[in-house]
Amino acid sequence: MNPDLLAAKRRTAILIVEDDTAIQALLTAVLSVNYDLTVIGTGQEALNQMATGAFDLILLDVGLPDMDGFTVCRQLKSDTRTREVPVIFLTSRNSAQDEVKGLEAGGIDYIAKPINPAILWARVNKHVELKHSRDALSQMARLDGLTGLSNRRTFDDILDREWRRLARVGQHLSIIMFDVDHFKLYNDTYGHGPGDVCLKKIARCAVDALQRPADMVARYGGEEFVAVLPDTQVAGAEAVAQAIRENVAAQNIPHEKSPTAKHVTVSLGHIPKIGRPPTDLVTAADHALYEAKKTGRDRAVAGTFE
Ligand code: GH3
Ligand code: MG
Ligand code: MG
Ligand code: MG
Repeated sequence: MNPDLLAAKRRTAILIVEDDTAIQALLTAVLSVNYDLTVIGTGQEALNQMATGAFDLILLDVGLPDMDGFTVCRQLKSDTRTREVPVIFLTSRNSAQDEVKGLEAGGIDYIAKPINPAILWARVNKHVELKHSRDALSQMARLDGLTGLSNRRTFDDILDREWRRLARVGQHLSIIMFDVDHFKLYNDTYGHGPGDVCLKKIARCAVDALQRPADMVARYGGEEFVAVLPDTQVAGAEAVAQAIRENVAAQNIPHEKSPTAKHVTVSLGHIPKIGRPPTDLVTAADHALYEAKKTGRDRAVAGTFE
């Protein structure tokens, strides 16, 4: 939920869907140098593989034994999990009409049989490159540039999605809003650069306080952060909020002029879901945070809907 900006690089994975074994051998000979290949021969296997595997590109034969490639492609494009994966059609039926049909089904390109290895190599490399730049851009659009946490937009999406999912199964969800205490004074005292470094450390403290894979924390804006804790009630949220507060205090980042402590502190407000829409949750957590500020800072306050 908190992807690192510098995620480990894995080899590019390509799914080859082709029933002719001679063509399978040619594709493998040309592409296995650069790519991890999975080679299968039917449309149904293609759909199964795509539902489980993470592929960067598909080479899809039009004439498959069980269904045509256009049908496979249309199904992949109608599923949000697989729609972003580019599909290149392989076909001997290289009429203009088939080409149009392939593009209309959502294909990105076409390679005609008999396959010319140089064209195959060049087209596949080009589309892999384009896919990687699209992925990098959409990742950047979802993350905060300073801390590497999810940004506000991603938080909104995740809160909405988790809220619906948990409402269906009748489970709780908590959110925690937190904010750095006297941070304007910190910037005024130490400068904006050290202020940025401080925000990065606080982001790390929050990530370290999360206990489950589905928990996430985002930069809500400025020096405000927000965490979403699925299937968590007030006691669990209180524990995570205190862990964030303690992790930040334990960093012992000097803040000489802070009226609250000699080090950087945070204030937190949290709220469990009790049949309220996501916007009410954010407002209620914000009120609890305000309460924490008002009653002395460096503390967590459990909110209510009163
Ligand atoms: P309070 O304890 O009530 O939260 O006081 P505060 O000073 O933290 O709150 P205020 O809202 O007055 O100031 C927030 C400060 O956070 C002001 C702003 O310059 C700083 N800030 C916001 N975003 C960034 C950032 O990305 N980097 C740095 N260095 N400072 C930031
Ligand atoms: Mg075929
Ligand atoms: Mg603030
Ligand atoms: Mg603040």
